[in-house]
Amino acid sequence: MKVLVNAGPWLAVPPPGYGGIENVVATLVPALRERGVRIVLAAAGSSTLEVDELISVYDDGQFAELQKPYNQVMGIAHAHQARVAAELRARDDIDLVHDHVEVVGPSVLSALGGPPVLHTLHWDLRKHPAFYAAFPPSIAVNGVSESQLARAPDALRAASLGAVHLASPLAGRPAVAGQGEHLVVMGRICGLKGQHVAARICQKLGLPLVLAGPVSGRNSPAELDVVVQDPYHPLHSHPDVRYHLDQVARYLDGDLVRWVGAVGGEARDDLYASARAALFPIQWDEPGGTAVVEALALGVPPVGLRRGCLPEIIDHGRTGFLADSEEELAEWVLRVDELDPEECREEARRRFSPSVMAERYLELYEAVTARA
Ligand code: UDP
Repeated sequence: MKVLVNAGPWLAVPPPGYGGIENVVATLVPALRERGVRIVLAAAGSSTLEVDELISVYDDGQFAELQKPYNQVMGIAHAHQARVAAELRARDDIDLVHDHVEVVGPSVLSALGGPPVLHTLHWDLRKHPAFYAAFPPSIAVNGVSESQLARAPDALRAASLGAVHLASPLAGRPAVAGQGEHLVVMGRICGLKGQHVAARICQKLGLPLVLAGPVSGRNSPAELDVVVQDPYHPLHSHPDVRYHLDQVARYLDGDLVRWVGAVGGEARDDLYASARAALFPIQWDEPGGTAVVEALALGVPPVGLRRGCLPEIIDHGRTGFLADSEEELAEWVLRVDELDPEECREEARRRFSPSVMAERYLELYEAVTARA
């Protein structure tokens, strides 16, 4: 079977640091190839993932361009998608398209009449309600959690092939020696991920907290300073940057609450693996929760708010804690040492390994091609 996996133009695969969809693709593709699937990857040209073929429009990821006006962002997405469409028109050796590109992907592919398409829904489906309510019926879909699908428009939920949980290649990695004292929030710095809540809790409790992740495409505190000092820079008024400055900065506190910028590779794994717990004070219904799965895989108990996919991933009291309010979250944070990191690792090996995810997708690929 030959599958065209469309990861979009935003970041290289695997991403150098932060990257949601690109991390999912980088986790899935090697496990599919081990099972004999040949992969044509449509992604940024700087992608280094081992595949059979790479097609791209842009040499580098276009993530920083997401700050531009909406029509320009859409222009980038459409240019990438037009390249994929041209490729599919020109050849007949692709058995299936596995599409991960929000909104633009299904719109273009449904008009093409090429190979069957499976589109993985990665987002909170209330983000583009009109689009998801009128989702092209010729395209098969799956979600990344049951809770995400439960909030989908009726027709989309009825047509979906179910949920496939996200996975992490860190599942199965041996335990690291030496747990540190710090707590960590790993993820995009934005209102939805709730870094301000974690910062508030840790400052109050006097617990060291490390926030890791980019702010709107800016990867380090130094870069952000440059942006913020320039009042004419378009990012100055971007809501995520304002959020960071207004909400998080007031809690940054010497060594106690630190923002280290985006981290990648071994630096990310070491920072994550040596944490006492990973906090998820999410302010939205997190659809898939890669970072939660990663925390389990590294034996770092996740502690978060009971929203979105978290109750599907975290077994409260065994592999992490779930809270219903900020006050309760603070109470559970003080009890993280009661959890056994080995239980977390075992859960990740059993439920969230790349093999488990690849087997599920192979079932869906077969269902979609049989239907076509
Ligand atoms: N991540 C990273 N470096 C960072 C922040 C995040 O490598 O500084 C990774 C994180 O480990 C996860 C992904 O980026 O693999 C973020 O995925 P998640 O599903 O948490 O966020 P979203 O897709 O909602 O932005």
